[in-house]
Order: sequence, then structure tokens, then C-alpha cells
Amino acid sequence: MTEIVVLGGGYTGVWAARTVSRAIRAGLLEGVRVTLVSATPEHSFHGWTAEVITGHVRPEHARVPLTQLLPGVRLVHGRVSAVDVGARTVSVATASGTTQVGYDQLVVGVGSFDATERVPGLAEHGWSLKDPDGLAALRTHLGTLAAGETVLVAGAGFTGLEAATAIAQRHPRLRVKLAHPGTRPLPMLRPRFDRVADYAVAQARSAGVEFLPDSRLAEVSPDGGWLDPHGPIATRTVISTIGQTPVALPGLVDQGLDGGGRLITDLFLRVAPRIWAGGDVAAVPQPGGEGACPANALWAIHHGTHIGANLVRHLLGWRLRPFRFPGLGHGAGFGVGRGAAELYGVQLTGWAAWLARWLFFHWYMPSRRIGVRTAAEWLLGPVSDGRVAAWQPSRSLQVMSSE
Ligand SMILES: Cc1cc2nc3c(=O)[nH]c(=O)nc-3n(C[C@H](O)[C@H](O)[C@H](O)COP(=O)(O)OP(=O)(O)OC[C@H]3O[C@@H](n4cnc5c(N)ncnc54)[C@H](O)[C@@H]3O)c2cc1C
Repeated sequence: MTEIVVLGGGYTGVWAARTVSRAIRAGLLEGVRVTLVSATPEHSFHGWTAEVITGHVRPEHARVPLTQLLPGVRLVHGRVSAVDVGARTVSVATASGTTQVGYDQLVVGVGSFDATERVPGLAEHGWSLKDPDGLAALRTHLGTLAAGETVLVAGAGFTGLEAATAIAQRHPRLRVKLAHPGTRPLPMLRPRFDRVADYAVAQARSAGVEFLPDSRLAEVSPDGGWLDPHGPIATRTVISTIGQTPVALPGLVDQGLDGGGRLITDLFLRVAPRIWAGGDVAAVPQPGGEGACPANALWAIHHGTHIGANLVRHLLGWRLRPFRFPGLGHGAGFGVGRGAAELYGVQLTGWAAWLARWLFFHWYMPSRRIGVRTAAEWLLGPVSDGRVAAWQPSRSLQVMSSE
């Protein structure tokens, strides 16, 4: 039996495992088993973060049980603590203790986490948008704030702008401030895509978001955030969108990391013989571009699918194919009909951008059933807090026995 072990139930892991398991079910591969190890029993779809805040998408639709997504894949619910490349084993801490999972081929898709190590107090007193439980709790918390209270969002990328605008639209009684270290928000789009960036900033402003330029979040305490060099902002709500740090797995870090702590891969998405990586944890050479692919969901989906396809080719003894996805662009939503996007270098704003992003996200939601339900619910308008179903934890994954 050839054991393929996939680490992480995010975009990279799900699409890699799905591609290989489809080849197995189609009868293309025999004697191959796919095991996916994930710290969480669900796959989280982060693209709808702002829409979960505004109530257009239910929190439970932004996460899907892995059991539903990956028929035929053995699932292990546990956190990987180390990889032993020599012994070809992975140590996994499960509810019933630490177990070793052996592999012939390893796919690393463990992604990244909020860069809380950069700001003292952020992990303890800040709010994260990445963790779906945290997002649901933030939604409830925002509803409890008194009129005039300040919400501080740190970071002026698309995620920060979308979240700040969504909060201001959903809770017009609150003061939403967005702090960022540069002179202008969305620096990654400027100057080439100034029109898209300016439109996004105008949408945030018209929702009531107040921008605090040249302000770096330096510390967070229960009383608020400290902005360098301007001083304190009194608030009970500091939300971080300052960036992500790749997960570093002991045993893999000595395989070669780039300056951002990501595993360096070749054009075929291999880190080393028998080890593949993609998504936020990997520095994959960008086809036709300079440096590594950007860290976002679309790239992670394409990395995962390509790793899966190359694994199938490898097991069939065929030549591997280099990764050639050229990228698509960026997009963000600021309310129905108000989108901002750069697609293949073309700048879109308003309905065209909103619709493109809406269709794109529904297409890429890993569960068609939930995608159709989410799409249908837009017709009903925002879901009121009372209508949002209390989150039901999904069935936990099979906890692996020490077979
Ligand atoms: C708030 C927010 C909004 C975003 N919005 C967008 C957007 O609109 N569009 C876009 O393209 N991108 C967006 N992104 C970025 C996108 O979510 C990431 O680029 C993408 O999730 C990366 O996919 P991945 O497979 O590398 O990692 P992830 O999707 O993060 O998956 C990693 C998986 O590994 C698991 N894991 C981690 N450590 C371990 C361990 N030690 N053992 C076992 N399992 C482990 C995790 O539980 C998770 O299942 C957003 C990100 C955030 C945080």
C-alpha cells in the first residue's frame, strides 16, 4: 500500500487530497491510500469573512466538515507536532495521545496563523478573523458594544478594509478606526491599480470608517491598542489583519526556508524527494513572475490541485508537470453591488467587480451543496442575528487508532 499523507485541511490539503482520491475512485491508481491530518475537523472558507460580519453569509456556511468534502479519504483529527524525514513518519497529537503516521509521500499544507508574535498582547487581547469560532464570537461581541464605542482594525490590506467596512455598515452606531503603517491604504495595489484602491477606500469612508495613517499597532492591552508613534486608542475591540506567519513544523524547517519562513519548493511543488508543499506555508516560484506566488486562497487551491495531479503522475510513472498557473488578480466586496477588483490587470469597480467576485467565490466553495444554499440566501438579504443558527459543532473526525 502506498501511503499519501496530507497535512492540513485548508485549501491546499483539501484540493490535493481530493485530486488523488478522485484518481483512486476512477480506477487510475491501485494500492494507494490517502490520509489527511488536520488540527480542525472543518475546512474554513475565509473569503466570506466580511459577509459573515454583515450577515449575508451564515457563519456555518463558511466552514464545512472535512468528512463531507473528502469521501474515500482517511481523516485524522490532530495537530502535527513534528515530521521525521528519515523515518518517514509524522507525529500527531490526537485526543487519545500522540501517534505516528507513516508516509510514502507527504503533502504539507498547514498554512499560516495570525502574526500575533509581532505585537505584544495581541494574542491575549486581540480578535482574530481567521479562526471561525473567533469570528462568530466577534460577531456576538460587536452586538454588545455601546453606541459611540471604538473598534480598532489594524492593517489596511483588502482583508482589513473589507472587515472595517462590514463592521461600520452592520453597526453604524460604533466608531470604526483603521490604523495602518503607510501613508495610503492598500499599498500592494499602488500605483498600478490606483483606481481600484481609491474606490475601495471611498467605500470604506462612506460607510464611516476613519483612517489612521502612519500608525503601527505596537501593543494591545485590555484597555486598547497602542499606535506607534501616536499613542493609545481606548477600545475593547482590536482586530488584527496585520498579516500571517507560516506554520513551522519541526523536522521540516531544515529543508530550506525563504526569508518569510516558507518552505522553498521547485517548479513541481516538491520540497525534497517525497515531500510536496503549497499554499501559505510554501514559497512556490511564481510562473512567469519574480519571487514566490502570493499567499491567498486561489493560489493555495491551484497549488493543492497541482500537487495532487503531480502525485498521480508520479505514481503512474509519468513525467511531472511544472506549475504554470498565471494568477488571476485580487478582489474585495464592500456591500452588494460594490466590489473592487483587478482581474488579469484590468481594473473593475462597482457591480462588475462585485458580481465577478460573487460568482468566483461560489464556484470555488469546496462544497457545491453549501455553495448553492449560500447563493440562494443572498436573495433573502442579510441574516439578522436572531436568524443565524447557533453554531453546531460538526461531527468530529475519526480519531486514528494506532494501527
Ligand atoms: C480573515 C481572512 C480573510 C481572507 N480572505 C481571503 C480572500 O478573500 N481571498 C483569498 O484569496 N484569500 C483570502 N485569505 C487568505 C487565504 O485564506 C489563505 O491564503 C489560504 O487559507 C491558504 O490556504 P492553505 O491551504 O495554505 O492554509 P489554510 O487554509 O490556513 O489551511 C491550513 C490547515 O492546516 C491546519 N493546520 C495548521 N497547523 C497544523 C498542524 N500543526 N497540524 C495539523 N493541521 C494543522 C489548519 O487547521 C488548516 O486546516 C484570507 C485569510 C484570512 C485570515
